[in-house]
Order: sequence, then C-alpha cells, then structure tokens
Amino acid sequence: MQIPIAKPFIGEEEKQAVVSVLSSGQLSQGPKVAEFEQAFAARHGAKHGVATSNGTTALMAAMMAHGIGPGDEVIIPSFSFFATASCVLSVGARPVFADINPDTFNLSPEAAEAAITPRTKAIMPVHLYGQAADMPAFEAICRKHGLILMEDAAQAHLSQIGDRYVGTWGTTGFSFYPTKNMTTTEGGMVLTNDDDTAQRLRMIRAQGMNVRYYHEIVGYNFRMTDMAAAIGLVQLGRLDGWTQARRNNAQAYNTRLTSVKTPVVQSGHNHVYHQYTVRVPDDADRDAVVKRLNERGIGVRVYYPLPIHQQPVFQAMDGYKDVHLPETEKATRQVFSLPVYPTLTEEELDYVVQEVNAAC
Ligand SMILES: *Cc1c(COP(=O)(O)O)cnc(C)c1O
Repeated sequence: MQIPIAKPFIGEEEKQAVVSVLSSGQLSQGPKVAEFEQAFAARHGAKHGVATSNGTTALMAAMMAHGIGPGDEVIIPSFSFFATASCVLSVGARPVFADINPDTFNLSPEAAEAAITPRTKAIMPVHLYGQAADMPAFEAICRKHGLILMEDAAQAHLSQIGDRYVGTWGTTGFSFYPTKNMTTTEGGMVLTNDDDTAQRLRMIRAQGMNVRYYHEIVGYNFRMTDMAAAIGLVQLGRLDGWTQARRNNAQAYNTRLTSVKTPVVQSGHNHVYHQYTVRVPDDADRDAVVKRLNERGIGVRVYYPLPIHQQPVFQAMDGYKDVHLPETEKATRQVFSLPVYPTLTEEELDYVVQEVNAAC
C-alpha cells in the first residue's frame, strides 16, 4: 500500500470553472476573485476578504497594511512553517520567537506576553495543524499592551473557538496551496473586519493604486488569478464536507492509536486537522519510527524538523544564537503527522493504525 501525506482533490467542477474563466477573457483580479473574496470572508464571518497570489504574500501584505517595519518587533512562534517569520523580515521588522504550549503546539500566551518589549508592534499566533491558538487570551494581551493582533491561519480554514471562526480576531492570512484544506493551486487571502485595513490591503496587493495609474503608496503585484478564484469557489463548497471527513478520520485515530500521544484539543476549540500530529514517547526514536513507516508505504512527515530560530538564515543573523525554546525544540524531535486527508479509505486508515501501533 502507498498512502501519501496529502491528496489534493480537483474534480470536474473545478476543471469546468477554469475553462469558463479562460473563455470569459477576464483572467486576473476580475469578477471571480471578487466573488471568492466575498464568499470566503462570509463563510468565516469576517467583513472583508482580500485575495492574494499565495499565503506568503497574504501575510506580507498584512504586515505592510499595519505599517510594520524597521525597528518593530513581531512576536511569533518558532514552531511553524518558515513563511510565518519571513513575512516579518520582508518588511524589515524583527521576528521575536516565543515558546509553545506543549499540548496544543500553539504559541503560549504567557510566553508571548513575557516576550513583549517597548519595540513590540504585533503578535501573530499560528493556528498550527488546524487548531486555533488561544485567541481570547491573545486578544486580551494585545488590548492590555496596545498591540496589533494578527493570525497565521494558513492551515486553519473553518477552524473555530466556540462558534467564532479564525480570521475574525485579527488581520489574518490564509493559504490555498495544494496540500492545504482547500486549494486554488497557488493562492492566499487576508481577512479583516477593519475597513481601513482592507482598503490598504487592496492597494498593497495591486501596485499601491486606488485609481488606475495613480500610486498613493508602495504596492506590489500580489494579485490572484480568476482561474485560481474559480477553483477556490468550488473548493469552498466542498470544504464543510471535507472538514467533517478529516474530523472523522482524526476521531478514528484518537480511539485506536495506542503507541503515540494523540492530539490534544483545547476545550471549546474545533480542530480542522490540516495535520493529524502525534508525539512519540520520550524514550522513542522518532526518526526511526518515521523511516520505518515510510518504508511500509505510509507517507508520514515531520512538520517541522527544525525550529525557525535554528534555521541557518536566523543563526547567521544577530541575536538568535542565544534563543532557547525548550518546548519548541522538544516538539521538533518528537512529532510526526499521519495521512488524514478526506478521501483516506477505511482500509488505508486500518493499515496506518496497525503500522503506527507496531512502530513504537
Ligand atoms: C502554507 C503556510 C504558509 C504559506 O502559504 P503559501 O501559500 O505556501 O505561501 C504560511 N504559514 C503557514 C503556517 C503555512 O502552513
């Protein structure tokens, strides 16, 4: 059996939607993009959606829209994908890494608050693996210290705390990369409830223009194509069903895996299982377990094997060699993720359970 870690699904409707756009002649930043922005924002209960070329440019645009720049610090987790930090560097600001909660793998509110300095401008938790970070706690900290709240929701479409969706606490970047919970091939979106921020985001994403060829601020080309948006609209229609399928797969793993520590869901949070990530026991050799499972045809993967603060690019910069984040560093040595995609079959799930239980 060969079971990949992710299996992007593109159906006939997506193909038809792309062909219609190609025939329409409106290929970029056209009506499908506007329709997708409205639908995606509405589904999350956010006021504005601003589509971008990918999740990385969504986060970069969000940093720019808040005027974050040289001299500013942004507090983020180090246990994430690199783009969480590169968007901060892209505006000339300094990423300040704080440790995670070892149960949820998400940024610890206490650690983040302890990392605040007079230069701190924003806090950007990541909803890692599809579980929302503790947003009420971050909202209170940001209010108390006068900071901007942002969210990296690249992995967390439709993730909730109670009945409130991610993307409604702060300025939020999403990704529609093929392996994410829904895709537009490449694509991203920023959600915000703030009218002024939305207006700046629209300008930043399109060369700083509000009126054509009249450039009020420095903007870039972060536009989404209408082919991408048309795919996104179809995928958004499938997302509820897919999310439920991911939850069902996770539930089956939760009850049947015996050898590893299964994901801890914070009370009131509704995980969307972008990844189903487990932890090996303290005495187990994670890399050997992963190697064995890979050899048995199961595409388990490590997200992420090296914390961002220990990446070569940060080690070469001033001030990061002395950063120590014990829970982050321990998690990078102990976690691995199992296939949890919506079309995983019962037979495949049985095989994964059997092999993981035998592997450590
Ligand atoms: C995927 C991802 C991004 C970047 O999104 P792209 O669409 O690949 O540019 C940013 N942050 C996190 C946490 C991600 O998983």
